[in-house]
Amino acid sequence: MSETRLTERAAELDAADELAKRRELFALDDGTVYLDGNSLGALPRHVQERMADVIGRQWGELRIRSWGESGWWTAPERIGERIAPLLGAAPGQIVVGDSTSVNVFKAVVAAVRMAPADRDEIVVDATTFPTDGYIAESAARLTGHRTVVVDPADVPDAVGPRTAAALVNHVDYRTGRLHDLPGITAALHARGALAVWDLCHSAGALPVGLDEHGVDLAVGCTYKYLNGGPGSPAYLYVAERHQGRFDSPLPGWNSHADPFGMTPGYTPAEGAVRGRVGTPDILSMLALEAALDVWDGVTVEAVRAKSLALTDFFLECVDAYVPAGRVTSLTPAAHAERGSQVALACPDAPTVMEALIARGVVGDLRRPDVLRFGFTPLYVGFADAEHAARVLAEVLAGVNSPPSG
Ligand SMILES: *Cc1c(COP(=O)(O)O)cnc(C)c1O
Repeated sequence: MSETRLTERAAELDAADELAKRRELFALDDGTVYLDGNSLGALPRHVQERMADVIGRQWGELRIRSWGESGWWTAPERIGERIAPLLGAAPGQIVVGDSTSVNVFKAVVAAVRMAPADRDEIVVDATTFPTDGYIAESAARLTGHRTVVVDPADVPDAVGPRTAAALVNHVDYRTGRLHDLPGITAALHARGALAVWDLCHSAGALPVGLDEHGVDLAVGCTYKYLNGGPGSPAYLYVAERHQGRFDSPLPGWNSHADPFGMTPGYTPAEGAVRGRVGTPDILSMLALEAALDVWDGVTVEAVRAKSLALTDFFLECVDAYVPAGRVTSLTPAAHAERGSQVALACPDAPTVMEALIARGVVGDLRRPDVLRFGFTPLYVGFADAEHAARVLAEVLAGVNSPPSG
């Protein structure tokens, strides 16, 4: 299809897009197509003003009173409730705090402590974002377990009578492949093991259905599709049926039944609060809370529909503009297996991504040879997708040209 035709199509798709107006809520400049929201979500404009109040009034004027009067103390649970509907979780099961890495540790250790003692294996996703693998390995050493590392598709076959739990990424951060959360969770349960999911690349991008699919524990970060800001705190989901047996490996005073009792002995609080550790990072947490306002009135189903349409359209434009064989999509064509990003393998990816960024198309590089483009439906449109593919083709043509003079 010709460039004119694709430009027209983009305009039609943008005109019909019910989410198009959400873009105004974000601080974005017209000269840039931001396709890195799967790494750091863009800033919702109003967060700056909200933080001026948090810093100036809540901290500056109320000071210590804000733990109660400004709701600081209960922020981890309160913000968990804001995230819950996006993950298909009923209230009371999500707490916000710490990094994803730390929550992986809590979840994996808690899962193996829940499992029968003769189950001494932890199955780990071989394609996982590295931090999960490192931490699962350490958790295994600490608890006297061993890890069994397999591809997500092979998890059902790897699970046996010795499996305590499996830790799997919902979406592969590198290729954008979406794994079968319902199927893998069911296979684990059928063999008596627990399912721990990392939702970093699915929360805010597609429906997860934690309760519906009976997930046991889950973690994820909030600075990607949830736009919480750099290093904003992660979340931990503990299914209600497991909360009574959730034995945290980091039982800090914030998870105590009576934190201000200051007793030497530890008695865990009931509910999701049990996943807390120490004093929450209030500034980051309240920036996240403000950022979540952009989801008011948006369904994750609408986001998913637009995400698939955007990635389809981007792939179509790449196909039309980029000479055959120059890049290879690593992202599955099947919707059921696709997250919200497109990963293109390209031999000279580092040079190409540098040139793209210089021309205002911001994706990122996953070494050695992957160009990653994240599509965030709240602020990326179809014209952006067409423009990005066109600039990619131009850059590839330039990079290919023989050196002159
Ligand atoms: C981004 C990401 C992380 C990041 O963990 P941090 O502790 O926030 O640095 C972890 N797991 C996955 C799958 C990710 O995509």
